[in-house]
This record gives sequence, C-alpha cells and structure tokens, in this order.
Amino acid sequence: AAAETKYSRVLLKISGEALMGDQGYGLHPPTVERIAKEVKSVHDLGVEICMVIGGGNIFRGLAGSAQGMERTTADYMGMLATVMNALAMQSKLEELGVYCRVITAIRMDEVAEPYIRRRAVRHLEKKRVCIFAAGTGNPYFTTDTAATLRANEMNCEAIFKGTKVDGVYDCDPRKNDDARRYDRVSYDEVLQKHLNVMDASAIALARDNNLPIIVFSLDEPGGFRGILAGKGTYSIVH
Ligand code: UDP
Repeated sequence: AAAETKYSRVLLKISGEALMGDQGYGLHPPTVERIAKEVKSVHDLGVEICMVIGGGNIFRGLAGSAQGMERTTADYMGMLATVMNALAMQSKLEELGVYCRVITAIRMDEVAEPYIRRRAVRHLEKKRVCIFAAGTGNPYFTTDTAATLRANEMNCEAIFKGTKVDGVYDCDPRKNDDARRYDRVSYDEVLQKHLNVMDASAIALARDNNLPIIVFSLDEPGGFRGILAGKGTYSIVH
C-alpha cells in the first residue's frame, strides 16, 4: 500500500458494544459513522480492509443461555445480531463513498453474500471493504474466533483489535491506577495470565498461524490510521 504504512491487508475487529455509543444497548448511528470514517481514512491509503463486528450490543449467546435459553439457539441469535451491525456499517461506509460487501457465514441471500473465500479475496483486490458477518456460522464460537479465522483465510498481515483502551494491560486500567501496559506480549503469556485480549480459542488460532494481534484504542480520532503508520500507543500480541 502507501508509503505511510507497511500494511497492505488487515482485519479490523471491533465489538458490537463499540457501536452503541453511550446508549447501553443497540446501534448509535453517529458512533457507527465515526468508526466508518476511521475505516475510510485507512482505506484512502490503499490498504485492503476486512472487518469483523461483534454482536454484544444486541445479543450474546452466553447471556441468553445464562437466563435459561437453549445455548445453540441463543448463539444463532447472537450471530444474527452481528449481521445487523454489519449492515449498519456497510451503509455508513457506502454513504462515505467506500464500496463494501457484507459477507455472511449463514446464508441469507436477500440480505448479503454468502461466504466464498475466493470471491471475498477478489473483493479485497478491488478495494472493497469486506465485512464478515454471522461469525464462523457455528455456535460455541465468538466473533474473536471468527476474526482470527477470516484474517488467516484472507492472508491478512495482522488483526487490529479496536477497544476502549490503548493496549493490553496486566489488569483493567479503568479500575486500577497501577495497571501496566505491555508493548509486546506473547500469545502464551496472554493465555497463561488470562489477559483480556480475545478469548482463548482465538488467541490459540492466531498463535498457531503467527498472526499478530494489535490492540489499540478506537476512541482516539485518527487512531486506526495512526496505528497502521506505527504511531500512538498500542500493544502487539505476537
Ligand atoms: N457467535 C457464535 N458463533 C460465532 C460468532 C458469534 O455463536 O462464530 C454468537 C455468540 O453467541 C456471541 C454472539 O454471537 O455471544 C455475539 O458475538 P460476540 O459475543 O463475539 O460479540 P462482541 O462481544 O464482540 O460484541
């Protein structure tokens, strides 16, 4: 891609909660727009972008099953929630002039394309943002696992995990003043110390394929583009 960054193809993972703003639930269109602009500014560099968006702002399988719902059904509901978030993001991106495809792991042909690996690669080559929705299509997984799976399949150079904090800490920096941030941390240390990055299956899948995970804050304006250029604070899991 451009001289500003060494990356040519990346995957951005955000949680569903990143789209709810201060509402505590659901979608907040101005927040969706703010994040879409972050994506556009990286797309403007010529970087090929995959996205995976969670569904926790609408429904989580574990929460449903904790309240007595059958687990797999609850998980399918969670996967459907991610499709709503993906559609919201697609619509904002296209409003901003960024061509985009929502690609789902569960067929719903009237709504979005089914996942066909080679077709998705072609979209990326044509500089369309690919938003991978419906997770892996399987219950008992998360969108973190889906992000790691798709990043591997699409040969992304790294996963960028946009969060509320600017990296990986030894404990929650919003609750502990003396929390320490790691510049670099190994997959194994993340697993052993149960550091809050992604769930264990996702970390293991990244480790086994040498896929770096870069954790950064999505609250900084221009943050995503800065991180791609190696500026700002972030942590690398490698
Ligand atoms: N989910 C699933 N399989 C997948 C991805 C997601 O069953 O491959 C379900 C699961 O119930 C999960 C929900 O979809 O709770 C929403 O995804 P996630 O919790 O990862 O969203 P986030 O926390 O990132 O917003």
